[in-house]
Amino acid sequence: MTDGHASSLETGDAPALPEDVDDVRDALISWYEADHRDFPWRRTDDPYEILVSEVMSQQTQLGRVVEAWEDFLDEWPTAADLAAADRSDVVSFWSGHSLGYNNRAKYLHEAARQVIEEYDGEFPRSPDELSELMGVGPYTANAVASFAFNNGDAVVDTNVKRVLHRAFDVPDDDDAFERVAQFAMPEGESKVWNNAIMELGGVACEKTPTCDESGCPWRRWCHAYETGDFTAPDVPTQPSFEGSRRQFRGRVVRTLGEYDELELDELGPRIRVDYGGDYGREWLRELVSDLSADGLVNVEKRDDDTVVRLRE
Ligand code: SF4
Repeated sequence: MTDGHASSLETGDAPALPEDVDDVRDALISWYEADHRDFPWRRTDDPYEILVSEVMSQQTQLGRVVEAWEDFLDEWPTAADLAAADRSDVVSFWSGHSLGYNNRAKYLHEAARQVIEEYDGEFPRSPDELSELMGVGPYTANAVASFAFNNGDAVVDTNVKRVLHRAFDVPDDDDAFERVAQFAMPEGESKVWNNAIMELGGVACEKTPTCDESGCPWRRWCHAYETGDFTAPDVPTQPSFEGSRRQFRGRVVRTLGEYDELELDELGPRIRVDYGGDYGREWLRELVSDLSADGLVNVEKRDDDTVVRLRE
């Protein structure tokens, strides 16, 4: 059975992943491994440290979590230390670092106690068991199972949905997202995979995507990149005009780099598969005249044609 067949079976009535799904997976993992934001909790596989980072990140921007996370672990380096702490100290730490609802501090403290008292100090390893801990919902349980034990399911959060919707045209339907996300994840690789796809959603496939600037590894398969439609479940209207326009400007320049010159109707289909209609000659003429005003291309009228070439 080929990957293509396997994908359409496994994803049910959700769209099948590309035939070369292994290349899709490798491309994302290589992109992530070559360069990614270096959060300190990405360097540990200690479940306690990861749980603390996950609970803190629920309401606080990642950049600000770093300092709080480090301070917290200085204060209570292990689950046993936290379990032995006074709850009021944990709560004051939480409010002192503006980490959002104090209940999260209480739950975290309680979860540490559970680990010590009910699990003999050993964190459970599966998402199901981890969900038994106080305040640990399915998302956090899966994150800890993935990042500490490489034993999680595919994460499906808003960022991942946005990526899957754009890249593979997955409809806005939770079951479809679950199926496609789970199938896309290589078996037994939840740690690197979940980090990688969340990184893609966090630095490249943001609400206004930066496909080219971020060197998105999925451009060659991506449905949105092909069609220029970058809407997503959490981006109901086309993201900022400049965002997608920049993409097409980049594509015009790259395409012209491969040809001496092209007439508008030759250039159009090479930069968007849906060239024509709303995105036809007039749209392209405007795009290339902007590029011409910026000194990047020459636009020349010849009889009834408009010919574009890169400026020397
Ligand atoms: S090519 Fe762009 S839209 Fe597609 S997955 Fe990459 S960043 Fe997202």
